[in-house]
Amino acid sequence: MKLYQAASAGILAYAIFFSVPGALAGTSDHERVCAAAEKCRILAGGSGAGEPPLAKLVDDIVALAAAPEQNWVHTRERPPLDVSLPLGRALQSCYAKATRLSAFLLPSCLGADATDENELNMIDSPLPWPPERTKLMKAYLKHHTGNDSEKLEEPTTIVTHWTDSGPGTLEAILKGFGATTMPDTHDVNVSCHYIVDRDGTVYRLMPENLIARHTVGLNRNALCIENIGGPSFPLTPQQRRANELLINGMVARHPTIDNMIGHSEYRAFENSMIFTEKTAYRGDRWAEPGRDYLRKLRADLDARSLESRKAGHCAH
Ligand SMILES: [Zn+2]
Repeated sequence: MKLYQAASAGILAYAIFFSVPGALAGTSDHERVCAAAEKCRILAGGSGAGEPPLAKLVDDIVALAAAPEQNWVHTRERPPLDVSLPLGRALQSCYAKATRLSAFLLPSCLGADATDENELNMIDSPLPWPPERTKLMKAYLKHHTGNDSEKLEEPTTIVTHWTDSGPGTLEAILKGFGATTMPDTHDVNVSCHYIVDRDGTVYRLMPENLIARHTVGLNRNALCIENIGGPSFPLTPQQRRANELLINGMVARHPTIDNMIGHSEYRAFENSMIFTEKTAYRGDRWAEPGRDYLRKLRADLDARSLESRKAGHCAH
């Protein structure tokens, strides 16, 4: 596989998804994946001796894309692409972008590593997770996503939330998340990977390789950041900075992540292939974590990306 062919695959995928939006009107996500994968397959035709498994993988993607009733989860169970090879990288970006909504894509170049996280005041505060909680979580995931694995293997998305509570509520919120079941049902309780207090202190509640219950449809693919705040208590600049550093660290740890949304935006993914909810649900319209906050957070991330590029941390 020649480097220029891999580069062409990336450029073509980019052109298909972002440069000709008119041509995409009315095109479903799975059709986009299919078109992109077909294009990659053609380009992969001459792949070198080191890359035969990729040809099979491309065929798998095409087959899955052509069968929209197949759950995207199954695709994620396939062997990961070998991104050390040029075609692996091109293909990864090809199908990753095909399944995302461009409006929520993270800037292409954040920090080169997660060391800025050292700036965070991070406190480990693991949620109690007795065997009963694992059992209930597995049952929840089986019912809602068709797959009972509670492992979060290749996160694609970060969802930011607020707790709808004011200053001084951290302890009560932690206590609430600590319960095994929901207060009003016997369902597994809600959970989240991180919670950020008003002063920017970050509490790590769960490892990033376990699924948390926080956003209908996206739990299997998303990491969660909760922030203490609500409509009467807009999130603070310290929380925004902590979110920025956490997001940067997550992206450095998980190259599969390429979008970030507020909980208020989750319904935009309802028809996308990363939305795995299998049951009827209410489709609540959350305000979290505030439109103004999201706008500023995205501006911070854009600025960080620009700085990284200027500093030569990223090639593009
Ligand atoms: Zn939320």
